[in-house]
Amino acid sequence: MIRLYNTLSRTVEPLETMEPGKVGLYVCGMTVYDYCHIGHARAMMAFDVVVRYLRRAGYQVNFVRNHTDVDDKILNRAKELGVSPLELSARFIAELDADLDAVGLLRPTLAPQVSEHIPEVVAMIQALIQKGHAYSADNGDVYFAVESDPAYGKLSGRKLDELREGARVAVGESKRHPADFALWKAVPSADDLGWDAPFGRGRPGWHIECSAMAAKHLGDRFDIHGGGIDLVFPHHENEIAQSECASGASPFARYWMHNGHLTLVDGEGTPVKMSKSLGNIVRIRDIVERVPAEALRMMYVDTHYRSPLPFSENKLSDSLGALDRAYIAKETVLDVVGKGGGVPVAQLPETGVEVHRLAGGFIEKLDAAMSDDFNSAAAMGHFFELVRAINRFGNDKKARNKGAEALRPALAAFDAMAEVFGVLALKPSAYFDEAKVKRLRQQGRSVEAVDAKVAARSAARAAKDWAQADALRIELEGEGIVVMDDPNGSTWRVRVEA
Ligand SMILES: [Zn+2]
Repeated sequence: MIRLYNTLSRTVEPLETMEPGKVGLYVCGMTVYDYCHIGHARAMMAFDVVVRYLRRAGYQVNFVRNHTDVDDKILNRAKELGVSPLELSARFIAELDADLDAVGLLRPTLAPQVSEHIPEVVAMIQALIQKGHAYSADNGDVYFAVESDPAYGKLSGRKLDELREGARVAVGESKRHPADFALWKAVPSADDLGWDAPFGRGRPGWHIECSAMAAKHLGDRFDIHGGGIDLVFPHHENEIAQSECASGASPFARYWMHNGHLTLVDGEGTPVKMSKSLGNIVRIRDIVERVPAEALRMMYVDTHYRSPLPFSENKLSDSLGALDRAYIAKETVLDVVGKGGGVPVAQLPETGVEVHRLAGGFIEKLDAAMSDDFNSAAAMGHFFELVRAINRFGNDKKARNKGAEALRPALAAFDAMAEVFGVLALKPSAYFDEAKVKRLRQQGRSVEAVDAKVAARSAARAAKDWAQADALRIELEGEGIVVMDDPNGSTWRVRVEA
C-alpha cells in the first residue's frame, strides 16, 4: 500500500486509484524559452522517481507532462532574438529533452503543447462562459469569475476577501474581482501570435492550458496532479476552479503532490538568488559536463521530495563521493559473486555476516521507505548502510574472496536502485571511466597525458627497468592516479575514497 501526502487534504493518504492498477498523472512542465536549470530539474526528478516507483509497484502509469510553448516570456524572448515564438519554443523543447535524457529522466507517456490544443482551450472557455463562470471584459480578455466558484481557494486555503485586499489591479484590466484571472488574452493584431475564437482573437492565459490538456489526455477526473510548491497558488488553484466548473466533475485531481524548492546556497550555507543578471544560473548541461549525471540524481534523491533542497558545490561533490563509494561496492559484489565458491555465511568474519544481513533486508526497507510518501531520503540511508558494510568487507582482503554467498543478495539491491532511482545501472568500469575523464577535465588535465605516463611505466616494466617503473608509479600516485596491474596490462583511475 502506497501512502502519499495530499496538498488538498494536508494529510498523508493511502493511494486509491480510480482504476485498479492504473495511475493517471499530470505534472506541470516548463515554459520553454531557455535551458533547464537545477531548480527545474528538481521537479522533473521528483516525479521521475514517483513514476519509477509506481511502475515498480505494478501500476501502469499514464504520465502526462506539458510544455508551455505560448507565454509572454517566450514572446518577449522571440522578439529579442528575431525568431517566431513557436520556433523558439520548438528549439528549447529539443534542448530540454536532450538535458533530461542526459540525466536519465524517463520521457513522459505524453508531452502535449498548448499551441497544439487551442480548440480544447477554446471549448473549455466557452463552457465556462455558458455556465456563468467566465466573462468577456471591455479590453477583450476573458476572465474567470472567482466569485462564481464557492470552492475557490480549497487547495491553497486562501479566502476571497484576503485576495481582494492583497490584490493589485494592473492598469487596463477590467476585472469584477481582483482575483479573477485571464483565461484568454486579447491579441487584436494579426501580426502577433494569436488564434481566432468566438470571444475574439487572442491566446490562452497560462492556467487554462493545463486544465484543457489534462482533461483531453486524462479525463475530467484523474488520480495525481504534481508540480513545484510555488505552483499551489495561483496556478493549481486556478486549474481546479476552471476544470471543476467547466466539467461539473469533482475532484479534478484526487491527489495533489508538490515538491519543495531548490535554493542555491554559498559556501557558508547562505541562500543566494539564482538569476540571469547575477550570472549564476546552474544549468543541467553545465553539471553533466563536470560530473557523471548520476551524481546529480543522487543529490536530488538524498532529500525527500517535499523538503527544501539547498544546492551547493559541496553538496554536489558529496553526492559524487557517495556515488564513487557505491560503485566501488558494486565492483566488489560483481567481482566476488562472479568468482563464486566461498564459504557458508556463518563461517565468515562479522563483517561478512553483517553484509549478508543488510543485503537480504534491503528490498523490504526500500519498499517501506518509498511507499511512505516516496521517502527516497530514508531509502538512501538504508542503501548507504549496505554500501558501507560491503566496502568494510571488501577491504578485508582475506575474507572477501570467500564471500560470494554473503554478497549475492546485494545484486538485487543494486538492481532496485537502478530501477527506482536511475542510479548504479552502469558497469563500474564504465562509471569510473566517465568519472575520470570529467575529474581530470575539471583539474585542467587530459586523459591522454595520464595514458602516456601509464604506457611509459608499462614499457619500463616490460624492459624490467623496475626503478623507472616504480618512479613513474609514485609520480602517478602523487597526481591522484591509481594504477592497477593485471595479466592483460595496466589500467588506471582517479583515486576515490572507499
Ligand atoms: Zn500546470
